[in-house]
Amino acid sequence: MKRRQLVQTMGAGAALGTLGLLGGCATPMTGAGPRVVVIGGGYGGATAAKYLRMWSEGKVQVTLVEPNAAFVSCPISNLVLGGSKTMADITTPYDNLIKRHGVKVVRDMAASIDADKRIVKLASGAELPYDRLILSPGVDFMWETLPGMASQAAKDKVLHAWKAGPQTAALRRQLEAMPNGGVYAMSIPLAPYRCPPGPYERVCQIANYFKQAKPRSKVVLFDANDDVTSKGPLFKKAWADRYAGIIEYRPKHRVTDVDAATNTLKFEFENDFKADVLNVVPSMRAGDIAANAGLATANKRWCEVDFLTFESKAAKNIHVLGDAIQIAPAMPKSGHMANQHGKTCAAAVLALLTGQEPLQQPLYANTCYSFVSDKEVVHVASVHRYDPAQKTMVTVAGSGGVSGAASELEGAYAMGWATNIWADMLG
Ligand SMILES: Cc1cc2nc3c(=O)[nH]c(=O)nc-3n(C[C@H](O)[C@H](O)[C@H](O)COP(=O)(O)OP(=O)(O)OC[C@H]3O[C@@H](n4cnc5c(N)ncnc54)[C@H](O)[C@@H]3O)c2cc1C
Repeated sequence: MKRRQLVQTMGAGAALGTLGLLGGCATPMTGAGPRVVVIGGGYGGATAAKYLRMWSEGKVQVTLVEPNAAFVSCPISNLVLGGSKTMADITTPYDNLIKRHGVKVVRDMAASIDADKRIVKLASGAELPYDRLILSPGVDFMWETLPGMASQAAKDKVLHAWKAGPQTAALRRQLEAMPNGGVYAMSIPLAPYRCPPGPYERVCQIANYFKQAKPRSKVVLFDANDDVTSKGPLFKKAWADRYAGIIEYRPKHRVTDVDAATNTLKFEFENDFKADVLNVVPSMRAGDIAANAGLATANKRWCEVDFLTFESKAAKNIHVLGDAIQIAPAMPKSGHMANQHGKTCAAAVLALLTGQEPLQQPLYANTCYSFVSDKEVVHVASVHRYDPAQKTMVTVAGSGGVSGAASELEGAYAMGWATNIWADMLG
């Protein structure tokens, strides 16, 4: 009903040819509708771009800035490392956004934002003016916390593979090249980081590969956190039942530096550790473009937003989504969440562009599936509702939960989740 009212208003505005004069648009628009620029074609940005076009019935001009030729999904990318999926399985082109939905996709990097003039400057030198800007740049790494990783040579050798793409394929090649009897070590930072269960899923996938292809090999997971941060009992059961003697879990191990030349991890207190294949996931913060625009106001890491609209608390007319935001308690940094942010933000931006009140009680669901083998899966689910008194999202009492045990049935659900969410954002 709300959406219909919005669309009706948009229709009326377009008939007048002066949609930009309605509501919150300061700049009068001649002929064409208001301009929304979206930075980042991942889970948050692609969703927001598509839904803005759909819900405005094509009346809002949407330009999506994204450097990659196609979308490559982090969810399911651990299965590429395990060898049961390929890069092609996790790659979706942007064609439907362009052809079906009329999103203008610009293959470039956003270099800077002039919030006063409402202009995005691109790496190519071009400028994109906007009425509203949506940023979903994901995360960037705090390389300054690992001095030995400063050089490009170190970054090319010791991979994170925490942004799906060339590093995913390169880490798989390193695992394939590792001799039987070799050691793969992964380190993970203190929470919050992108995808709480992701590292624990990754070691299952790599151990599953070793079990079949190089059974004398070992996996060691160094976790800066006190314990497994998500689905702990389920992962620990999988490690004990399926990967005993292969996976070793070492909590409370905070990496302070890396010697990339010798593949060695250095810790706050413990002895150095040398591996054949080293996979270091550094601490992270909001993507550079958001941080450089002064939007990362929470601990200089994450962008604080109004959860009703996703408008930045630091800059007007700029909305931030996905992993880049300062999350509400118990809200994971996940693709599923970023997708829900994208829709809530698209509806709110349409409301603001037409002088309407954004929806006052947004509700999001989240399910994170994790593969403990190539077929069997466990999940954690939660539901989050806006609380007007606290002005933040809170988990709905009694909602969600975790799997009782890993199963192949949940494996089918997990692949269904992935194909559905890719279709929802890019189909
Ligand atoms: C191994 C792994 C497994 C995961 N598994 C799951 C899972 O099972 N379920 C789940 O829900 N989530 C999972 N996640 C988390 C999920 O991938 C992220 O939470 C999600 O991608 C966040 O969406 P986003 O839009 O914030 O960022 P992204 O999806 O990373 O999109 C950011 C986009 O912005 C672009 N960009 C960045 N800077 C600029 C710039 N300056 N100009 C233009 N474009 C720019 C990037 O190229 C990128 O395409 C997983 C993550 C990892 C690493």
